[in-house]
Amino acid sequence: MRVLIVEDNPELVALLKKGLAQGGLPADSVGTAADARHVLATMQYSAVVLDIGLPDDDGIALLRDLRRRGESIPVLVLTARDGVSDRVTGLRAGADDYLAKPFAMEELIARLQALLRRPGNLLGRRLSFGNVALDTEGRQTFVAGAAHAFPARETAVLEILLRRSGNVAPKRLFEDHLFGLSGDIGSNAVEVYVHRLRKLLADAGATVKVHTVRGVGYLLTEEKAG
Ligand code: CA
Repeated sequence: MRVLIVEDNPELVALLKKGLAQGGLPADSVGTAADARHVLATMQYSAVVLDIGLPDDDGIALLRDLRRRGESIPVLVLTARDGVSDRVTGLRAGADDYLAKPFAMEELIARLQALLRRPGNLLGRRLSFGNVALDTEGRQTFVAGAAHAFPARETAVLEILLRRSGNVAPKRLFEDHLFGLSGDIGSNAVEVYVHRLRKLLADAGATVKVHTVRGVGYLLTEEKAG
């Protein structure tokens, strides 16, 4: 299990390598998007820590290329402080999580470990949990094999939950994603879309439920039959 750090600041790279190694995650590093493309095409990594501001290209462009090629490796994006638009762009480009600089090393390690614990079948274009599946490209939801066209925001909420299934998805992930889809989001918007998604799933006969973890976020759980 090795992590690739894509970051051009040598001091930060040294800190990251040391911190990740102490957290049981050995890492290699590259400082340019071109090197990252080369290394990712030739070597197997378990996850990528990706800086957005690279000297030769935008980290987001690199991420978009990876996803376009069907590469499902978990990617955690490092953004500038308060870079809300960076976070939204990152998530829409296929980032699995993000962290704003400056960050605590413990948090980075915890987030990476959460990404690495995800089952392999959750990483691809088709995400599934229980009898629910989502085609992330066609934006179609399947419940017990039957196709459903859920509305865009409910589908976005479902995608975040599926990408995190087994782990709690923090509420801010949903907020950022919904802000990315529409500018006028009320303070209870996440609750509204989660509520609608719950109804859609229940009406379709899903075996999974959206569980609220008060003060933290949401978690997909499976109701076992019998
Ligand atoms: Ca940078």
